[in-house]
Amino acid sequence: MRLLPALSAAVLVLSVPAAAKDAAPTPAAPPAAAAPAPLPAPRLVLAISIDQFSADLFAEYRQHFTGGLARLLTGAVFPSGFQSHAATETCPGHSTILTGARPARTGIIANNWFDLSLSRPEKMVYCSEDPADPASSPKDPVVTPGFLRVPTLGDRLKAANKATRNVAVSAKDRAVMMMGGHTTDAAFWWKKDGFVTLKGAKVPAKVAADVAAASQAAAGTIAQGAPELAVPAWCAGKDRAIPLANGSVGTGHFAVRPGKEADFRTSPRMDAATAALALKIAGDLGLGKGKATDVLSVSLSATDYVGHGNGTEGVEMCIQLMALDQTLGTLFDGLDAQGIDYVAVLTADHGGFDAPERLDRQAYPQAVRIDDSMKLENLTAAVIAKSGIAAPASGQLIYSDGPFGDFYVSKALPAEDRAKVIAALVDVAKANPQVQEAFTAAELSATPMPSGSPQDFTLLQRARASFDPQRSGDVVILLKRGIMPIPRGASGYAATHGSPWDYDRRVPILFWRKGYAGFEQPHPVETVDIAPSLAAVVGLKVPAGEFDGRCLDLDGGERDTCAAR
Ligand code: ZN
Repeated sequence: MRLLPALSAAVLVLSVPAAAKDAAPTPAAPPAAAAPAPLPAPRLVLAISIDQFSADLFAEYRQHFTGGLARLLTGAVFPSGFQSHAATETCPGHSTILTGARPARTGIIANNWFDLSLSRPEKMVYCSEDPADPASSPKDPVVTPGFLRVPTLGDRLKAANKATRNVAVSAKDRAVMMMGGHTTDAAFWWKKDGFVTLKGAKVPAKVAADVAAASQAAAGTIAQGAPELAVPAWCAGKDRAIPLANGSVGTGHFAVRPGKEADFRTSPRMDAATAALALKIAGDLGLGKGKATDVLSVSLSATDYVGHGNGTEGVEMCIQLMALDQTLGTLFDGLDAQGIDYVAVLTADHGGFDAPERLDRQAYPQAVRIDDSMKLENLTAAVIAKSGIAAPASGQLIYSDGPFGDFYVSKALPAEDRAKVIAALVDVAKANPQVQEAFTAAELSATPMPSGSPQDFTLLQRARASFDPQRSGDVVILLKRGIMPIPRGASGYAATHGSPWDYDRRVPILFWRKGYAGFEQPHPVETVDIAPSLAAVVGLKVPAGEFDGRCLDLDGGERDTCAAR
């Protein structure tokens, strides 16, 4: 924060030695006071993403944090950060955090999209796979960052100075790829029964040994099982069953049944294992102690798994967030013990929404589960009836990865028929009482990239921010507020995210560095502001126009962390 001009002048006058003051003529207008010299660049950037950690969860739980999140609360606190785009999924969200670019520029428009020109039978592509590799499929991807169109902060630092090390760890491969980027020195994620890395990656022996040990420890817990976790006293009120059409949520305590990998992966234990491995690798590689600033990205996935499996307002999330707070404290303490000067940022890839069955009990009856009318077969039948155009001889008429988002019309149709099908799809969608909007690619292409406060973006602007003309659908469909896109009685997830509504867009953004004066800024900022802010802190010059975000001054004191170094 800069001092007010009047106060700056007063400080300047006071700081001039008496003799000099006597000798110098009184200036007509005193020169502006220079802000104090910036702190030296930190040796490590620690970037943390908490998957599905909405601003709503942050607001609800912040009073209870005593560990790592309590430390972050003493730094620069932005409770109203935005993943400002419409496609609030994991891959797009992670792609914004360290690139400073919205999905429209990162090219990561969704977790999955369709490429109808692919020669393989599967036309869906996964955001961090290599579809050119015959061994790759969306379900079992050969992981690469190839679809990410822009560099991450780690990529940029490495390009500026080869001595920078760029490390990323998560339970999810897509989080690792989107935060680490194209030039990772170590990149690890969880797959079935252990941590794995990129095909062909060279792993230093010490790191390999620690990864093997971490995998083995986790596999041991899975094999033997583990007891329930303790319920913090003030979580007890949330410990009540909410019946769903199949089973119930609200009373899970995270016992691991022997041999059940999912019980481990979808629990606080997964986060603890991920953070512990990140700390080990930091020690192995001497991160924060080299010749250049290093980057350590840690994406903790369990909050997302807990939200999907149980909704966001049960005892499960309460236990999860308390455990997360402790896990983060252990991570920070570990870096402190290594004597590393680091700047930390924590945010989320998207927010979340509770199960409608609990929302209904808790004064939000507007939330309902989606009906079957947007199921692809039903939607396709309605579009055929409306347009009079049948599916082509080979392949489908319409492709989509679910009841909202990007919809693709077969390219096997003559152009005139394609246009009719697209128009019919828009009409059918707009007539559906659970649909809010249906935008065509032509409409989105003609829309300028939004600016100004992200809370005021129109739905068209939100959709524009995650639109890529090569990868996005012919039609982008957005559901109404409160529509949970998981039908009643569906197996698997109880709740999800992905909407253009603020419960899925708003995330906390917290920065901390030793020596910075803390403050809270309630006005909206964006996750694309993180990379320009950190670039300034570490003294990295980035050409104008390469970021969608702006630099945030992270020091509430007299220093301006955005001032040129
Ligand atoms: Zn996510």
